[in-house]
Amino acid sequence: MKIYLDGKLVDEADAKISVFDHGLLYGDGVFEGIRLYGGNVFRLEEHLVRLEYSAKAILLTLPLSRAELREAVCATCRANHLTDAYIRLVVTRGVGDLGLAPWSCARPSVFIIAGKIAIYPPEHYELGLAIVTVATRRIGPAALPPTVKSLNYLNNILAKIEARQAGALEAIMLNEQGYVAECTADNIFIVQGGVLLTPASAHGALRGVTRGTVLDLAQELGLPTRETDLTRYDVWCADECFLTGTGAEVIPVVKLDGREIGSGRPGPVTARVRAAFRQRSLTEGVRL
Ligand code: PMP
Repeated sequence: MKIYLDGKLVDEADAKISVFDHGLLYGDGVFEGIRLYGGNVFRLEEHLVRLEYSAKAILLTLPLSRAELREAVCATCRANHLTDAYIRLVVTRGVGDLGLAPWSCARPSVFIIAGKIAIYPPEHYELGLAIVTVATRRIGPAALPPTVKSLNYLNNILAKIEARQAGALEAIMLNEQGYVAECTADNIFIVQGGVLLTPASAHGALRGVTRGTVLDLAQELGLPTRETDLTRYDVWCADECFLTGTGAEVIPVVKLDGREIGSGRPGPVTARVRAAFRQRSLTEGVRL
C-alpha cells in the first residue's frame, strides 16, 4: 500500500511519523474520513471545506491549498489502483517540543491512507442495530466544539467502550443538557410522522457530510426535515431511526436501551433514504 506523506507517496513500511509529533503527543490535529465509490471521490469538496474550518478553529495553518489537497487525495487512490476505498486524510500539528505549545511545531504533517473500513457487520444493514445510551456525555461546545473534527477522539472512544461493555455496537451520546447529540462516530436521525428529525450541531453533533447528503436527498424525495433537540424518549418512541456516517453510510437502528423502535424492523423511510444514498454515492463525486 502506498501512503501519501508530506508530498511523497511512500511504501506503508516507510510511512512514519515522529514520536515528537503533537498529533501523537496531544491529539493536536484534524482529519477527514472520505469515501471513494466507483472511481469517484464522494463529496470531496465538502470534506475539504470541513477540514479547513476544523483547522481554522484550532489555529492550524494547512500546508496545502484546497487544490493541492484534492490532488493529493486523488493521487493516493490512483497509486493504489483503487476504485472503492475509505480515505483517511490527516493533518497533524507537526514535530515540536515536549509541552503543549503548538507554536513550537514548525510545520504540520499531512498524510493520507486509502484503504478499507467495515464499521458494522453487513447483516446489520438489513436487520438494523440495537444500540444503547451511555453515561459518557458528548463534550460541550464550550470545551471543545464537536464541529471540529480533531484527532482527539477519547471522548467518543470512552463511549464506544461503554457500548461494547453493554453488548452493543454503537452508543447514543447525550450532551451536557441531556439531549441526544450523536453517536460515537455517526450522526443520528429519527423518523416521526413522516418527518426526518436530527440534532443540530448546536446540540453537539458533528456537521456530518453523510448527514448533509441525507438532508439534501430528503428534500429531493419530498420528505420534510427538521434540525431539533431530541430526547431519549423521542428515539424510543420514534417510528424509525437510522445512523449516518462516511464509514457507516446509512444504517437502520431497531432498538435503543432494550426498547424496540417502531415495528422493531428497519422502516420504509429508512429504506428509501438508504436506496437514494446508494444511488447518489454511485453517481456523484470527483473523478480520480
Ligand atoms: N459524528 C462523529 C463524532 C464522527 O466522527 C463522524 C464521522 N465518522 C460523524 C458524526 C459522521 O460524519 P460524516 O458523515 O462526515 O462521516
